[in-house]
Amino acid sequence: MARVIAVCNQKGGVGKTTTTVNLAAYIASLGRRVLLVDFDPQANASSALGATVQALVQSIYHGVAGLVGAQQLVRPTMLFNFHYIPAAPHLAGLLVELVEEQDREFILRKFLHTIRHEYDYIFIDLPPSLSLLTVNGLTAADEVIIPVQAEYYSLEGLGQLLETIDLINKNLQTELLVSGAVITMFNKNEQLNVDVARQMRSGHFPHPVFTTEIPRCVSLAEAPSFSRPVILYKPYTAGALAYRRLAQEVIAQEKPPQQPYASPDFGNFNII
Ligand code: ATP
Ligand code: MG
Repeated sequence: MARVIAVCNQKGGVGKTTTTVNLAAYIASLGRRVLLVDFDPQANASSALGATVQALVQSIYHGVAGLVGAQQLVRPTMLFNFHYIPAAPHLAGLLVELVEEQDREFILRKFLHTIRHEYDYIFIDLPPSLSLLTVNGLTAADEVIIPVQAEYYSLEGLGQLLETIDLINKNLQTELLVSGAVITMFNKNEQLNVDVARQMRSGHFPHPVFTTEIPRCVSLAEAPSFSRPVILYKPYTAGALAYRRLAQEVIAQEKPPQQPYASPDFGNFNII
């Protein structure tokens, strides 16, 4: 059963989509079956993976609205074991349609239920808001990864995000876990970046902070214009190698597989 991980921060432009696309790609390259769900009406992750405007005729909107099944929405990427479901701008309209709906906080969760067993990881890229779309992304997930730019204002918004996660867990009976914050667009030569990163690691942030810091690296910004993750663009640049290390850290958090039950009575086979 997949680990469902939402990549969330209500602050805009902090590296959510860059993290979702590249972390997902590296986790797939390390042998896991991965699905990326674009749940942001901006559809940046979809275009970073090569979705054209025409191809967005059927998007996650149609899935959560119950118009098509998940299987019809899943698209391949250029990487083995890495699929995605695109978003489209009219996903924003879903917010209005959902207001009257019962269980409106759980529609993405219900939708993912039908394909969850087919993947090891499902990543959800979320918009820069704490809207109902984001709440749906969070209730659909088991875990959340929070990309944080190492700047002063970034820290200010984090409290509000953690409060929202607590409220969701209390009021909607979920058990969403913060598996970690990841520091993005890091420049070790900028004192502010270094100070903020140090603050985050010294208890300002009450959850794990991944050891890997994602450096500011132009290849990460360029790769989407070639419709591919950085692993298929410039895999030996500092940004690419950082996302590979982050993928290894996320994989290292996996729970060990359940041991199959072995009865001592059946344990004495001799192979001749
Ligand atoms: P939004 O809130 O609008 O969804 P976001 O949080 O998803 O934004 P991204 O779109 O991933 O943020 O990144 C914002 C911009 O910064 C993009 O142009 C992206 O290419 C660039 N960017 C992200 N990470 C890096 C990095 N490590 N180095 C250089 N550029 C980066
Ligand atoms: Mg984004």
